[in-house]
Amino acid sequence: MNQLKNELIVLSRHPDGEVTTEDFQLQENRVEELKEGEFLVENRWLSIDPYTRPRLNRNTSFVDPIKLGEVIQGETVGEVISSKNSDFKSGDLIFSFSGWQKYWVGNEKSFATSRLPSTELSPTVFLGIVGTPGRAAYFGLNKIAKPVPGETLVVSAASGAVGSAVGQLGKMAGCRVVGIAGSDHKCRYVVEELGFDQCINYKKDDLNIALSDACPNGIDIYFENVGGRVSLFVAKFLNEGARVPICGNVSNYNKGYDVDVSAPSKFFSSLPNAPLCRFFLVTEWYKDYAEAEGWLFNAVQQGDLKYRETITYGLENAPQAFIDLLKGEHFGKQIVRV
Ligand code: NAP
Repeated sequence: MNQLKNELIVLSRHPDGEVTTEDFQLQENRVEELKEGEFLVENRWLSIDPYTRPRLNRNTSFVDPIKLGEVIQGETVGEVISSKNSDFKSGDLIFSFSGWQKYWVGNEKSFATSRLPSTELSPTVFLGIVGTPGRAAYFGLNKIAKPVPGETLVVSAASGAVGSAVGQLGKMAGCRVVGIAGSDHKCRYVVEELGFDQCINYKKDDLNIALSDACPNGIDIYFENVGGRVSLFVAKFLNEGARVPICGNVSNYNKGYDVDVSAPSKFFSSLPNAPLCRFFLVTEWYKDYAEAEGWLFNAVQQGDLKYRETITYGLENAPQAFIDLLKGEHFGKQIVRV
């Protein structure tokens, strides 16, 4: 087993502005022989997430940056292929935060590592709709926005991993749901397949006219995923007492060294009739993860919550999948099959 060769993708340069494949390097190293209490995991699935982009900068405002030469961090699902730990047996499926690599050695202290239940659903749901994106939708909506039936909810990046869950949860809560997405194809999907009431193509439609048509009673909840130009237009339609959970600022992630992920909260707080708005990290509700995951899992299993994935094959293609994700060239949750 000690001859096993690992492949990993490390940060070779802090990107300035748009990410390129030259910012990453595919490396190899040897997998160490297992010590007592350790287990060896072969990663099968890798989650590709926009929030990785600010972490590639030299400094980040909300979590530690990834250093040069370090493996790119990210959530993974893998299978135990060898073990000297009685709690983790060969064949077990493992969720972890092991990053963009093929193999890793864990022990009982490995960060955020858990055995996954066996289920008929694809294990990739634990990286998407039942994982961080699903939880971000669940907590942002239930803990900050607190939707009331009859209210109008607008969500940006509507067809993405977080946005598609937000809209469906909003419909379950009795809201009128309006999505904002970057193509007619994505807009059709969220209306026809996910049940949103309407969707606006922000790259094509006049946002003033489209928002005024889609939200005749104004906007009570704006679930912020993108920041930038979209927020400027949405702000004009916010009702008194509106709530704006700030989940992300993806339109600005590629803009340079000092991107402030929470910037939209400064913009919304500065409005004359400022809504209740707050930047959140899903980890704030760590103690409630089991509740959220249980609820999301059941909803997916019963067919009440739908999701879509883009699967890219090959660890070596993770950088390109990440670059495409930031430009919206994927559809739904972006995953890499290692
Ligand atoms: P995603 O929505 O699947 O992908 C990002 C989407 O952003 C793209 O598909 C693209 O969609 C849209 N986009 C890119 N540039 C844009 C621009 N200039 N203007 C408007 N939209 C643009 O990604 P996700 O994983 O679901 O994440 C969504 C947001 O949630 C991100 O901001 C992420 O950082 C955040 N997030 C936060 C937490 C937390 O704890 N706070 C946890 C998870 C995720 P279009 O094709 O529609 O343009």
